[in-house]
Amino acid sequence: MIPVTKAYLPNKAKYQSYVDRIFESGWLTNNGSLLQELEGRLADYLGVKHIILVANGSFALQLAYKALALKGEVITTPFSFAATTSTLAWEGLTPIFADINPQTFNIDPSQIEAQITPSTSAIVPVHVFGNPCNVEEIQAIADKHDLKVIYDAAHAFGSQFKGQSVLNFGDVSTLSFHSTKLFHTIEGGAVITNDNELAKKIRLMINFGISSPTSIDSVGTNAKMNEFEAAMGLCVLDDIDTIRQCREDIWQIYTENLSGLMELQQWNEHGRNNCAYAPVLFENEEQLLKVEARLKENDILPRRYFYPSLDTLSYLDSKQICKNSRDIASRILCLPIYPNLELNDVQRIINLLELY
Ligand SMILES: *Cc1c(COP(=O)(O)O)cnc(C)c1O
Repeated sequence: MIPVTKAYLPNKAKYQSYVDRIFESGWLTNNGSLLQELEGRLADYLGVKHIILVANGSFALQLAYKALALKGEVITTPFSFAATTSTLAWEGLTPIFADINPQTFNIDPSQIEAQITPSTSAIVPVHVFGNPCNVEEIQAIADKHDLKVIYDAAHAFGSQFKGQSVLNFGDVSTLSFHSTKLFHTIEGGAVITNDNELAKKIRLMINFGISSPTSIDSVGTNAKMNEFEAAMGLCVLDDIDTIRQCREDIWQIYTENLSGLMELQQWNEHGRNNCAYAPVLFENEEQLLKVEARLKENDILPRRYFYPSLDTLSYLDSKQICKNSRDIASRILCLPIYPNLELNDVQRIINLLELY
């Protein structure tokens, strides 16, 4: 069976040696030495100032909204994973959608301004499939209207914009380190910011607001990453260049073979692709379903990322209709891409696509 993605498992003996360290120290969680080591190495690898490791990517988003004291309406994209919208709703914020650019799949900056009202406090764009948003245009809109920008960068580990990490843009960026992501810690996530005060605030918030054994400085929660997760991160980070190269090889083969046949995502011209996903567009949903069924018959399980478009969610009671997002969601499929996927299987998938 070939799924859309497979969790990367590092060398077992290496992971075991970290587990031995945890057992020797007896320190299982709460800002342990492995977590600190991973934070330092990730800050270097990604080229970011503050990185705060947390329990998962959804929590990372919620902490960002809370720390920035967002209120009222937040403009976001309807074309994303469920968490982008649900974290907003969970925090009592109202998601307002701006439609996407149908070529890049990212929020269309020219659609943002029309959605701004006196209640708008922030913009939450997503670097969809790792493709950098038009960060300069988005920042200009935010500056003009005094709005915060939080990037859901769950897909953008290692994505670059104009030669630097795309995580350096906006007030905050968040990552997900779920097992299925390019870099993972089993479950996990991170908050990234250049703002010293904000970083301090979020560090307090992830541990109940406790600033010392005898003082509680702010409202907080429990969003900590534990040492077993940090150990997995240290092992996966050792292999990150190989992981990237394997994905790039697969991505190249897909692109070379399929670009004449079907529409592919248009990548930001200033961006560097991290090859986290391999999305392809069909002409319509009927064709997609036909090909999906054929792949399934061959034990190949692509995923309809992202479907459904989030402006259709019943729990929101939104009256908005984002035409581009609904259209793309109805005819997009993400093909299998992960380090141990055999290149002859990639070719087999291409052959099955070419039949349609
Ligand atoms: C995976 C993902 C998240 C959520 O991350 P978790 O670590 O699973 O909570 C949020 N946004 C996007 C776009 C994602 O793909």
